[in-house]
Amino acid sequence: MLRPSRRSNRLLRMEHVVRIRGEVVTRMIEEARREPSMECCGLLAGSGLEISAILPARNALASPSEFEIAPKELFRMFRELRASCLDHLGIYHSHPAGDNAPSTRDIERAFYPDVAYFVVSPLPDAPRPVRAFSIRESRVTELAIETLG
Ligand SMILES: [Zn+2]
Repeated sequence: MLRPSRRSNRLLRMEHVVRIRGEVVTRMIEEARREPSMECCGLLAGSGLEISAILPARNALASPSEFEIAPKELFRMFRELRASCLDHLGIYHSHPAGDNAPSTRDIERAFYPDVAYFVVSPLPDAPRPVRAFSIRESRVTELAIETLG
Protein backbone atom coordinates (compact mmCIF):
# COMPACT_ATOMS: atom_id res chain seq x y z
CA MET A 1 0.00 0.00 0.00
CA LEU A 2 1.24 3.49 -0.77
CA ARG A 3 1.74 5.98 1.97
CA PRO A 4 -0.42 9.06 1.39
CA SER A 5 2.57 11.36 0.86
CA ARG A 6 3.96 9.13 -1.84
CA ARG A 7 0.65 8.75 -3.56
CA SER A 8 0.00 12.48 -3.79
CA ASN A 9 3.54 12.96 -5.04
CA ARG A 10 2.86 10.42 -7.77
CA LEU A 11 -0.39 12.09 -8.75
CA LEU A 12 1.32 15.45 -9.03
CA ARG A 13 3.98 14.04 -11.29
CA MET A 14 1.93 11.73 -13.44
CA GLU A 15 1.00 14.47 -15.88
CA HIS A 16 4.54 15.08 -17.05
CA VAL A 17 6.53 11.97 -16.21
CA VAL A 18 6.26 8.55 -17.76
CA ARG A 19 7.77 5.53 -16.01
CA ILE A 20 9.07 2.72 -18.18
CA ARG A 21 11.22 -0.40 -17.76
CA GLY A 22 14.71 -0.08 -19.23
CA GLU A 23 14.35 -3.24 -21.31
CA VAL A 24 11.26 -1.80 -23.03
CA VAL A 25 13.24 1.32 -24.02
CA THR A 26 16.07 -0.87 -25.37
CA ARG A 27 13.60 -2.98 -27.33
CA MET A 28 11.95 0.10 -28.89
CA ILE A 29 15.34 1.28 -30.19
CA GLU A 30 16.08 -2.21 -31.53
CA GLU A 31 12.73 -2.26 -33.33
CA ALA A 32 13.42 1.17 -34.86
CA ARG A 33 16.86 0.04 -36.11
CA ARG A 34 15.76 -3.37 -37.37
CA GLU A 35 14.21 -1.86 -40.49
CA PRO A 36 15.58 1.69 -40.44
CA SER A 37 13.98 2.73 -43.75
CA MET A 38 10.44 2.24 -42.45
CA GLU A 39 8.54 3.57 -39.44
CA CYS A 40 8.11 0.87 -36.83
CA CYS A 41 5.15 0.97 -34.46
CA GLY A 42 3.43 -0.79 -31.62
CA LEU A 43 1.72 -0.55 -28.26
CA LEU A 44 3.13 -0.18 -24.77
CA ALA A 45 1.41 -1.58 -21.73
CA GLY A 46 1.78 -2.18 -18.04
CA SER A 47 0.06 -1.88 -14.73
CA GLY A 48 -0.82 1.34 -12.98
CA LEU A 49 1.53 3.99 -14.24
CA GLU A 50 4.51 1.83 -15.16
CA ILE A 51 5.15 0.61 -18.70
CA SER A 52 6.55 -2.91 -18.60
CA ALA A 53 5.53 -4.51 -21.89
CA ILE A 54 5.97 -3.81 -25.59
CA LEU A 55 3.77 -5.22 -28.36
CA PRO A 56 5.34 -4.56 -31.75
CA ALA A 57 2.88 -4.22 -34.62
CA ARG A 58 3.13 -4.24 -38.40
CA ASN A 59 3.14 -0.83 -40.05
CA ALA A 60 0.24 -1.34 -42.46
CA LEU A 61 1.47 1.61 -44.56
CA ALA A 62 5.06 0.26 -44.81
CA SER A 63 6.14 3.89 -45.08
CA PRO A 64 9.25 5.86 -44.03
CA SER A 65 7.11 8.84 -42.98
CA GLU A 66 3.85 7.54 -41.50
CA PHE A 67 2.43 4.52 -39.75
CA GLU A 68 -0.84 2.82 -39.10
CA ILE A 69 -1.72 -0.31 -37.17
CA ALA A 70 -4.41 -2.20 -39.08
CA PRO A 71 -7.72 -2.24 -37.11
CA LYS A 72 -7.77 -6.03 -37.05
CA GLU A 73 -4.30 -6.20 -35.52
CA LEU A 74 -5.17 -3.44 -33.05
CA PHE A 75 -8.24 -5.35 -31.82
CA ARG A 76 -6.15 -8.50 -31.45
CA MET A 77 -3.58 -6.57 -29.40
CA PHE A 78 -6.22 -5.01 -27.14
CA ARG A 79 -7.66 -8.49 -26.56
CA GLU A 80 -4.19 -9.73 -25.71
CA LEU A 81 -3.76 -6.89 -23.21
CA ARG A 82 -7.07 -7.63 -21.52
CA ALA A 83 -6.21 -11.34 -21.32
CA SER A 84 -2.91 -10.50 -19.59
CA CYS A 85 -4.56 -7.89 -17.33
CA LEU A 86 -2.35 -5.13 -18.71
CA ASP A 87 -3.40 -1.54 -19.30
CA HIS A 88 -2.75 0.23 -22.58
CA LEU A 89 -0.34 3.00 -21.52
CA GLY A 90 1.50 4.02 -24.67
CA ILE A 91 2.00 3.95 -28.41
CA TYR A 92 5.42 4.07 -30.03
CA HIS A 93 6.66 4.63 -33.54
CA SER A 94 9.92 5.66 -35.16
CA HIS A 95 10.98 8.56 -37.35
CA PRO A 96 13.64 7.08 -39.64
CA ALA A 97 14.67 10.43 -41.10
CA GLY A 98 15.52 12.26 -37.94
CA ASP A 99 13.72 14.63 -35.61
CA ASN A 100 11.78 12.45 -33.20
CA ALA A 101 9.05 14.88 -32.22
CA PRO A 102 5.42 14.27 -33.23
CA SER A 103 4.63 15.26 -36.83
CA THR A 104 1.49 17.19 -37.80
CA ARG A 105 -0.03 13.89 -38.89
CA ASP A 106 0.92 12.28 -35.55
CA ILE A 107 -0.89 15.07 -33.72
CA GLU A 108 -3.98 14.82 -35.94
CA ARG A 109 -4.11 11.08 -35.44
CA ALA A 110 -3.47 10.95 -31.70
CA PHE A 111 -6.73 9.26 -30.71
CA TYR A 112 -5.73 8.25 -27.17
CA PRO A 113 -5.46 11.31 -24.91
CA ASP A 114 -4.49 9.25 -21.85
CA VAL A 115 -1.50 7.36 -23.21
CA ALA A 116 2.10 8.42 -23.77
CA TYR A 117 3.26 8.76 -27.36
CA PHE A 118 6.86 7.60 -27.78
CA VAL A 119 8.79 8.67 -30.86
CA VAL A 120 12.05 6.82 -31.51
CA SER A 121 15.01 7.72 -33.71
CA PRO A 122 17.04 4.87 -35.20
CA LEU A 123 20.00 7.18 -35.88
CA PRO A 124 23.12 6.25 -33.89
CA ASP A 125 23.94 9.92 -33.22
CA ALA A 126 20.45 10.97 -32.12
CA PRO A 127 20.84 13.22 -29.05
CA ARG A 128 17.73 11.65 -27.49
CA PRO A 129 16.78 8.45 -29.35
CA VAL A 130 13.58 8.05 -27.33
CA ARG A 131 11.21 10.92 -26.48
CA ALA A 132 7.72 10.77 -25.01
CA PHE A 133 4.78 13.13 -25.39
CA SER A 134 1.26 13.58 -24.22
CA ILE A 135 -1.04 14.68 -27.06
CA ARG A 136 -4.42 16.01 -25.97
CA GLU A 137 -6.74 17.96 -28.22
CA SER A 138 -3.80 18.81 -30.47
CA ARG A 139 -1.74 20.07 -27.51
CA VAL A 140 1.66 18.40 -27.30
CA THR A 141 3.53 18.24 -23.99
CA GLU A 142 6.87 16.51 -23.72
CA LEU A 143 7.06 14.00 -20.87
CA ALA A 144 10.14 13.26 -18.82
CA ILE A 145 11.06 9.58 -19.11
CA GLU A 146 11.87 7.81 -15.87
CA THR A 147 13.63 4.55 -16.71
CA LEU A 148 13.26 1.76 -14.17
CA GLY A 149 15.39 -1.30 -13.59
ZN1 LIG B 1 5.48 10.25 -36.43
